[in-house]
Amino acid sequence: MTITEPTITRTATTKKPVLEIRDLSVDYGYDDDAVHALKNVNLTLGAGEILGLAGESGCGKSTLAYAATRLLPPPGVITGGEVLFTSSRDGHGGDLLRMSDRELRAQRWRDTAIVFQGSMNSLNPVYKIGKQLMDGIRAHEKMPAHAMRARAADLLSMVGISKDRLDSYPHQLSGGMRQRVMIAMALALEPEVVIMDEPTTALDVVMQRQIVEQIMDLKRDLGFSVIFITHDVSLLLELADRIAIMYAGNIVEDAASSEVYHQPRHPYTAGLLHSFPPLHGPRRELGGIPGSPPDLMALPSGCNFHPRCPFAFDACPKIDPALGPTLYGDAEPHRSVACLLHDPAVGPGRLPDELAARPAG
Ligand code: SF4
Repeated sequence: MTITEPTITRTATTKKPVLEIRDLSVDYGYDDDAVHALKNVNLTLGAGEILGLAGESGCGKSTLAYAATRLLPPPGVITGGEVLFTSSRDGHGGDLLRMSDRELRAQRWRDTAIVFQGSMNSLNPVYKIGKQLMDGIRAHEKMPAHAMRARAADLLSMVGISKDRLDSYPHQLSGGMRQRVMIAMALALEPEVVIMDEPTTALDVVMQRQIVEQIMDLKRDLGFSVIFITHDVSLLLELADRIAIMYAGNIVEDAASSEVYHQPRHPYTAGLLHSFPPLHGPRRELGGIPGSPPDLMALPSGCNFHPRCPFAFDACPKIDPALGPTLYGDAEPHRSVACLLHDPAVGPGRLPDELAARPAG
């Protein structure tokens, strides 16, 4: 079996990088029993960008978020890579994976913050909201108690919650309010990077819409960059500047959202887009993707997507494609794709109509 080198050849962002994930690999377990949950993942977040990370359940999205912030619980093990933070404000930074515990404590919340999946599990049920907000601030800044309470009240108002709620327990708030508290907490020290892991999944669509709009407003006001993780590609098409698609622990496509929407270049991305109704234009029949995501303990050989891919050809079960340029090369300088159809050395030299160029619209 031939394995191509998993080295990225370009970055899809046009902005100055604030967070660069390089060749990040994560296993669950050790030695022969290890499950390779992430394999040499490369991703760059530009300053001020919203980068959407999408894929089916179990593809490694949350593992990526936890590993990149050094919050991965055992038996998860980071087996290689770098996560480089570079402040766009004053240039300070470093590799999060190699920082001492002290450096990491100082870095968290101030430079990078995370909003976890399922706020009700993240807030401590026996402490009032105000105390939990103030504990986070106190860990980083010294200020009188009354000033800290005022700061916590400001944070609540920023996410549309009355300051009276400082004295409420988590169970006295609705799911949407608890999620807003988590967002307020993440923004307490005005970090430059916020990772949001399925922040709206447990909420109804109306609340989901309100929270997404609020995140957009806060981003405009505070200027942070976001990695937004979800299985809902349609949400990302509205929200994100760029979208990276994950499959079986790898990024398989990385491009501007409008490019992904108008012309996916990877068969898996095309399948995801055919799995929900179009945002605009006439109704069409939904396609879906046959089969299920692979078992990470028994991955298919070569391209992991080949048993489900409608365009698989003879090289696909033999060669593991690396993330690289599209078949259109320099004409698409800010797109990356991991598919052998785009490799002139082994592919047919042209794309199927469904993946080929067509005017945006
Ligand atoms: Fe499909 Fe082959 Fe491309 Fe994999 S490499 S996505 S199997 S065409």
